[in-house]
Amino acid sequence: MEKINNSPFEGWGLSKQDRPVMIAGPCSAESEEQVMDTAVQLKSIGVEVFRAGIWKPRTRPNQFEGVGSMGLEWMRRVQRETGMKISTEVGNVKHVYDALRYGVDIIWIGARTTANPFAMQEIADALRGVDIPVLVKNPVNPDLNLWIGAIERIKGAGIRHVGAIHRGFSTFDKTRYRNIPQWQLPIELKQRIPEIPMICDPSHMGGKKELLQEISQKALDLNYDGLMIESHCYPAIAKSDSEQQVTPAELAAIIDKLILRDVNTSNPLFLLTLDELRQKIDICDEKLIRILHERMSISETIGRYKKENNITILQAGRWKDIVDKMVEKGKSNDLSEEFVSSVFKAIHQESINKQTTIMNN
Ligand code: PEP
Ligand code: MN
Repeated sequence: MEKINNSPFEGWGLSKQDRPVMIAGPCSAESEEQVMDTAVQLKSIGVEVFRAGIWKPRTRPNQFEGVGSMGLEWMRRVQRETGMKISTEVGNVKHVYDALRYGVDIIWIGARTTANPFAMQEIADALRGVDIPVLVKNPVNPDLNLWIGAIERIKGAGIRHVGAIHRGFSTFDKTRYRNIPQWQLPIELKQRIPEIPMICDPSHMGGKKELLQEISQKALDLNYDGLMIESHCYPAIAKSDSEQQVTPAELAAIIDKLILRDVNTSNPLFLLTLDELRQKIDICDEKLIRILHERMSISETIGRYKKENNITILQAGRWKDIVDKMVEKGKSNDLSEEFVSSVFKAIHQESINKQTTIMNN
């Protein structure tokens, strides 16, 4: 890996700032031995920040909920003996005070906490006057403003170094991901807050180690500033998130295979070709808009016709036939089911909106 751009981690106290920052460590701290063993191995493969969950937000009670502040003692040993920065999740004010007391270098806010403005505000207030970098994971639900709001609360408390972690979003639908990426959300976040470092968490996004390489590469191709990956010395016996954790050696192999591409180039031939291709894309996009307009005009005509005949807007069977047919067509045109069905769901929604307006006029 090599230098890609000016470090967005200026002032974060990291030693290496000229490549995507690598944060790794177990989902949970489980024992002093597990923490030290994992940390020493991660240090040897060049990981800069050691992560471990001390308090675990679990979906249901009576699961392993973390070792509590005792684990911070072990993390402090990691900091002292390996020189790595240490990082943990805080979910309430007590966690904040404990983390600060034990000298945690970077704290992160978990997805469930980001989704809760009351909790976010309490955490932000507890951090007032403290100079510690804070990473804010995306909320569990795909709500960009909720994510931005959480970041604003932390910044509002005077925290100078705030980053975002993209860990994906939960859905009711079953997908190949544990949490679907929805890459357009972090991209838009970055447009709204350009200076914010963006880190990808492929572990919670993929939910299984087989997806780590692919997701990490995609994040780097989208110019993310860092990765947070769960790594455990013995993933098979991990007390939480066992399936998505890799050994430090497996992590080293993943990092080794990652390709860091340049953000910019001045090669004229490349720029010319890119420009031509982008013009073609612009033409396609304009065609798409015209076609969508034509389609919606027909929907509106149907809406008027339904109104005259006193028929309801929604005919679920017809709609399901359309989506099924298009998903099949999409497959034979190299378009994923996920993509085609979300495009057609959006088209359907717009069509319903148009017809509703007509019905109620
Ligand atoms: C974690 O990082 O271990 C964690 C609980 O993540 P998330 O908040 O993304 O679910
Ligand atoms: Mn985890």
